[in-house]
Amino acid sequence: MSKLVPPHGGDSLKPLLLPEVERREELKRAASLKKIPMTSRETSDVIMLAMGAYTPLDGFMNKADWKGVCADMKLASGLFWPIPITLSADQKLADSIGVGEEAALVDGETGEIMGIIEVSEKYTIDRDFENSHVYRTTDPKHPGVAKVNEQAAVNIAGRVRALSEGVYPEKYKDLYLRPAESRAVFAEKGWSKVAAFQTRNPMHRSHEHLAKIAVEVTDGVFIHQVLGKLKEGDIPAEVRTEAIGAMIDNYFVPGTVIQAGYPIEMRYAGPREALIHALIRQNFGCSHLIVGRDHAGVGDYYGPFDAQHIFDELWPGALVTQALKIDITFFCTKCYGMATAKTCPHGKEHQINISGTKQREMLSKGEPIPPEFSRPEVVEILRKYYAGLSK
Ligand SMILES: [Zn+2]
Repeated sequence: MSKLVPPHGGDSLKPLLLPEVERREELKRAASLKKIPMTSRETSDVIMLAMGAYTPLDGFMNKADWKGVCADMKLASGLFWPIPITLSADQKLADSIGVGEEAALVDGETGEIMGIIEVSEKYTIDRDFENSHVYRTTDPKHPGVAKVNEQAAVNIAGRVRALSEGVYPEKYKDLYLRPAESRAVFAEKGWSKVAAFQTRNPMHRSHEHLAKIAVEVTDGVFIHQVLGKLKEGDIPAEVRTEAIGAMIDNYFVPGTVIQAGYPIEMRYAGPREALIHALIRQNFGCSHLIVGRDHAGVGDYYGPFDAQHIFDELWPGALVTQALKIDITFFCTKCYGMATAKTCPHGKEHQINISGTKQREMLSKGEPIPPEFSRPEVVEILRKYYAGLSK
């Protein structure tokens, strides 16, 4: 018996990627079906379904599921689910595909056939309803709200059979671990209490400190980075991986940390997104998710600790995976060490903090980054990257 947390909603993972042999046959058949072009977010969701990260979903949500998820964070079955996973198509295309028919799901950017959907329902949604519940705002400037507003007119629900994981397995050979694979790695190491650290950035000392607090109280930490589509100005995954690798190699006890990546596209839904990050990590076999300040937030739409508080609002049994809540971390010149707002009694003026924008500017200009803020091995990699950009 595995000592790891069970997958969400049951005792087995449900990856929707068909086995190789079937896949080849189905790909041939899919080529003759009507095609639904998908946004990058929808394509990323198909891959998340394919790898089993969205267990136990079997496809894109119908209206009852969508509504329950928005309003009460519950699927129609009553199972906890915090964010709608939906597919949309324009009116004309939706009209041309009947309920009960199959359609091919196509990556709108590359044209690759990613899967087949068996259409069970077509419906329209109230976008403001989704936005106000899930994103807690209807401000069109919020990047998650903007994506909901840009969605095509009709939502298409149905069971999905996935036929591809896109570029991920090849492009990120050393990082792309499916939930069944991360579970196998943890089990082999004898881990049962595993903390996931979600990141879309290189890790500086404040992040290192978060991860080390987690190492102290668990069997190990799973540094899990976002490989899905980035915002402009974000550092590419290859550079991030190298920088995080340099930090792990030089500053962690060997064997206490595993670095991996997964294909999610950020929705920036703050508290609700923290919940789905935890749910997904339960599928990957993690008992905890590190939730620091402003987890998965954007701008100032959410309070700095809203993403921690929302875990206290769930009903018992909603999620097995728990939040490991940690206060703001920083280097304090008076404590003369890493500290958190919970452990350091000194003022902000003693904290060494550099904003992302400021960092970029300093690195581009060749200015030194203080070792209290970032490890020199990490800075070196980032400096090379920015030097390459300015050429
Ligand atoms: Zn202090």
